[in-house]
Amino acid sequence: MVSITRGSGSVDPELTKTMDHLWSPWRYQYIAKEKKYNECVFCRLPKEERDEETFIVYRGCFNYIVLNIFPYTSGHLLVIPFQHTSSFSDIEKEVSDEMMDLTKKCQAVLQQEYKPDGFNLGMNLGVASGAGVAEHLHMHILPRWFGDANFTSVIGETRILPEMLGNTFLRLKKYF
Ligand SMILES: [Zn+2]
Repeated sequence: MVSITRGSGSVDPELTKTMDHLWSPWRYQYIAKEKKYNECVFCRLPKEERDEETFIVYRGCFNYIVLNIFPYTSGHLLVIPFQHTSSFSDIEKEVSDEMMDLTKKCQAVLQQEYKPDGFNLGMNLGVASGAGVAEHLHMHILPRWFGDANFTSVIGETRILPEMLGNTFLRLKKYF
């Protein structure tokens, strides 16, 4: 964990940009790359066949597991069907069964490796629910710690940078 503190006072927009970059360098890299694509990101990632760079930790028969590149906390995982669909009620039983099995596996792995105090598990379906990629459903598995909400604290406070995604990938890949 890297802790970054900034003082109070007026906020220079340029400084804000720089600090955002410090907090989430992968985000800037990702946005820069994403501009080239029109295809749904969750359809494209597994097709690229470079799992170490796209942070895919496991491929099942119907779903894959990938690091969330915009993690709310370290170890934030996504279980995603290969099938492009926005509706959980419409997916085949074998797909949703495997999705749930992989979600259980993710929880167990994160418990062992990160020893969190709790978890958030769930899906946001539809733009109104807050889904970032609404057209392709995905399950979030999010380890939680007491006090981790400080991660989203306001400017002027100390923020905690989640570990770099490459480290998370190495820590989790060995379980799959
Ligand atoms: Zn898709």
